[in-house]
Amino acid sequence: MQLCEFTQLELPAALRVGRVHSVDSMGAVDGPGLRFVVFLQGCLYRCRYCHNPDTWDRRGGEERTVAELIAEMRAYVPYMRASGGGVTVTGGEPLLQADFVAGLFEEAHKVGIHTALDTNGFAPRERAAPVLDHTDLILLDLKQLNPEKHRALTGQSNELTLAFARYASDRGVPLWIRYVVVPGWSDAPADVEALADFVQGLRGVERVELLPYHLLGKHKWEAMGIRYTLEGVEPPTQETMDRIRAQLERRGLKVT
Ligand code: SF4
Repeated sequence: MQLCEFTQLELPAALRVGRVHSVDSMGAVDGPGLRFVVFLQGCLYRCRYCHNPDTWDRRGGEERTVAELIAEMRAYVPYMRASGGGVTVTGGEPLLQADFVAGLFEEAHKVGIHTALDTNGFAPRERAAPVLDHTDLILLDLKQLNPEKHRALTGQSNELTLAFARYASDRGVPLWIRYVVVPGWSDAPADVEALADFVQGLRGVERVELLPYHLLGKHKWEAMGIRYTLEGVEPPTQETMDRIRAQLERRGLKVT
């Protein structure tokens, strides 16, 4: 909770401060319509394919207030309305700055802006709850359902993420599930069946977005002096993507 240094009371939503990596004023891939996309700093996963390792450090980025960002996005409201868009907060992992995101979404709702949270779900329920109070859509990244493979791929357990998914489902927040297909790491038929099993148990899943692994972020790892451990792994073939899509569709899921 962010407190006022004078009163020691919780800061009003507009005054809360977040560490922001960057913004994209007209994003078109992180939720419906045209979106003002806010990339937040900090992530506790270490996905081997991460294309934004420069967002990992919680101390990086620039401090911005909710009020500043709302003022900046106001210019784009007509485009959001015309396209059915809104604001998306992504990262990094936005739930590491839950107070800030809750404040940003609360203020966005006051001016009629649709809110989407792009998250890996790695946060306890009590931290996520205030954010979900003002969230219209969750883009939930499920990396792997198999616990050992998940830890090998991301460096973390998937328990919190799966609990978050069930909590969001119980609260009735619409969900778009995102799944990155990495050859040898998440493309096995059994991996896809486990994904389908889990997703079928959730309410409110509107679609599953299949994202092919790509190498576009690799240069950032090199620039940051971090060893890239998926060296030699190529993007999935069209055949693999088609097979996974068919597998999920056979289970009654809408795939995009
Ligand atoms: S959760 Fe996202 S930001 Fe965090 S390491 Fe994975 S891909 Fe990168």
